[in-house]
Amino acid sequence: MTIQLRTRHPEKAKKADSVIPRKPKWIRKKKIEGSEYYETRRLMRDHDLTTVCEEAACPNIGECWSKRHATMMIMGEICTRGCSFCNVATGRPDTLDAFEPGRVAVAVKKLGLRHVVITSVDRDDLDDGGAQHIAQTIRAVRHQNPGTTVEVLTPDFLGKGDAADVVFEAAPDVFNHNLETVPHLYPTVRPGARYYASLRLLDDAKRTNPEIFTKSGLMVGLGESLNDVRQVMDDLRAANVDFLTVGQYLQPTAKHHPIDRFWSPEEFEKLEQIARSKGFLHVSATPLTRSSFHADEDFAALKQARLRAIANGA
Ligand code: SF4
Repeated sequence: MTIQLRTRHPEKAKKADSVIPRKPKWIRKKKIEGSEYYETRRLMRDHDLTTVCEEAACPNIGECWSKRHATMMIMGEICTRGCSFCNVATGRPDTLDAFEPGRVAVAVKKLGLRHVVITSVDRDDLDDGGAQHIAQTIRAVRHQNPGTTVEVLTPDFLGKGDAADVVFEAAPDVFNHNLETVPHLYPTVRPGARYYASLRLLDDAKRTNPEIFTKSGLMVGLGESLNDVRQVMDDLRAANVDFLTVGQYLQPTAKHHPIDRFWSPEEFEKLEQIARSKGFLHVSATPLTRSSFHADEDFAALKQARLRAIANGA
């Protein structure tokens, strides 16, 4: 374990260990690893692709991969940020792989995805934060898979000028950027990010192309209050964000941000009701909700909700 932390999370190595609480029963998932699961894994390996499903140690991997739903993480396995909640390795990344967009497109075809979610590490080392590479990946997927809708979950492009415009111009069907937590926890949870810059990015996506669905996600259990979460919901609606996901934070290792508490399923139901009352087109709030969990079904629901809103004159 110590060796893994030294290489994977050097910025956390000197942090004091915290006790990881036992997961309540509503968090525990049965292990599902059928033939489709192994086929998904083989496809990712064969095409030399990284997934956030594995890198983030996602609890839903058995269910998703058994349905051939994998969320590819582009631009390498090493992130330039060191967020205290995240299990992705931190360090100096490799140069970009110009053939990666093509490999993602082929993998999407082989998986037979109707809707794909593509995410990435943060690349503060690149002048454009990787915006061009993300845009190329969107175009490559579209070219090979004209019937597939594309969702990107991007970094914040902090300090990269108008680099994000390149991604907006590639017109993903869904532009997702996760706020992750409430403003007062940013210095400890997302020290390299700025809350209002992330909000502005979401606002910019919608202003640049109102056809794009915008989406953002929060984790609870990091030390926020219900009122903090309500405020974030209001901020996201002010930025015209369409879709909100809220899930329980799970602590990857003793060196990561300690879990403050587990929100109960009833509290998640309440969060969903509050969010819907604030006017999001779609909301997913359950303990195991993750940005890309059930993303294809959610995208269908999102489209229907927009059509209903238009029919109602909204
Ligand atoms: S929820 Fe997302 S990250 Fe987790 S396994 Fe499913 S597709 Fe992968």
